[in-house]
Amino acid sequence: MQPAAFSSPLRSRGLLRPPSFPILTLDERKLTPSLGYVFNKKWLDPCESLVSILWKFEKANALPGHVVARLMGPDIDPYEGIVPQLGLVDIVRLHETLAVPVKMLRAALLQPSQRRPYCSVFRHCRRCVAHGYHSVLHQIESISVCPAHRRPLEIACRRCGYEAPYLVSVRLLEAPYRCAYCRAGYGGQGWSPNNAQPMKAEFRKAFTRQYFERYIG
Ligand SMILES: [Zn+2]
Ligand SMILES: [Zn+2]
Repeated sequence: MQPAAFSSPLRSRGLLRPPSFPILTLDERKLTPSLGYVFNKKWLDPCESLVSILWKFEKANALPGHVVARLMGPDIDPYEGIVPQLGLVDIVRLHETLAVPVKMLRAALLQPSQRRPYCSVFRHCRRCVAHGYHSVLHQIESISVCPAHRRPLEIACRRCGYEAPYLVSVRLLEAPYRCAYCRAGYGGQGWSPNNAQPMKAEFRKAFTRQYFERYIG
């Protein structure tokens, strides 16, 4: 599907914008679900990270990563990216675009805390990624195995060794479920609206339990 936001070639080249806003080349009013963008909060699982949510949004709407990266706001350079952390990300704006409840978006962000340092590179469980899931808990330094699968979390691409910075950026969003450098898969096909399946109840419980014990507590 070609996004409606590209309907004006002049606008897509930024020619209708003053030069002081070189990043904003889209009419942001068009980036709303009312104009055909779909998202269903039932596609999300407990403690799902913002990156994981945005990958699903991208897949569901056949959007390129650079368009989704711009959802982070006009002041954010989508190529440089932004740390998906509470206080840095405009939750209201995301809520209006994705129609995901604010509570779920808050839980999808890293909580700034000196007691619980988080990993600055994308850290994942291959089995979770195979189902198109990545958790905020996977980013917490003190959690070294996946709460659901009990397998060690990985940070490097198995093919090229690249460690992707954990940033909502064009680079990460352009490579859902794969290495942003060599495009090798992180463990499977990932998620698509056609294979959307809820997480097993025991895994949901495992993530929720760890969230309250290790993250919030
Ligand atoms: Zn897992
Ligand atoms: Zn790679």
